[in-house]
Amino acid sequence: MNAHDLFEAGMQFHGHKCPAMPMGLRAGLAAMDALGVEHSRDKELHVVSETGAGHVAGCFVDGIMTATGCTYGKSNIQKLYYNKMAFTLIDTLTGRSIRVSLKPSFFNQVLNSPFVLQRRAGVLPQNIPSEDVDFQVEKILNLAEENFLEIGEIQQIDLPEGEGMFDVKPCARCWELTFVNKLQDSADGLICIPCAAEK
Ligand SMILES: [Zn+2]
Ligand SMILES: [Zn+2]
Repeated sequence: MNAHDLFEAGMQFHGHKCPAMPMGLRAGLAAMDALGVEHSRDKELHVVSETGAGHVAGCFVDGIMTATGCTYGKSNIQKLYYNKMAFTLIDTLTGRSIRVSLKPSFFNQVLNSPFVLQRRAGVLPQNIPSEDVDFQVEKILNLAEENFLEIGEIQQIDLPEGEGMFDVKPCARCWELTFVNKLQDSADGLICIPCAAEK
């Protein structure tokens, strides 16, 4: 899929039109191109995002997820909460990885764009007039990578271990089925984390 098709797919679940989601989408595609990898159907790819919470442009991550196929549900994306507009894409089959970040000059421009200025004034993203965001989204979808992305060198990293857990048992207190790798011993038998936290 090209960036425009992916943008339409991303819009379906993202919920509003904004500059940050397509920025993440382009950045994700650039990282995939650099590594020579395809959209992750299972956990072939893993993303470590340096974005966080409580800052604008966090929508960047929804673009990265749309492009790479690394999703919260598959647990092949994680956030470091550094509140930086950067991420590392890892090819879990080879251990090759690449870090991509937004060029500071470009990100500063975005932060002073009509969209973000209205967000700063308290306007919800879905209420920003399309003439204030459409041109910006279109520009981002067509920008040359070197004009807005810093693409690092390919690095080789040690891959984390871990197979999917298939086995469940009921918690001895709430009786909800819980994957056994998060059950713990108690006087009543194996219990889940929330029950263990209750007095
Ligand atoms: Zn958004
Ligand atoms: Zn329980």
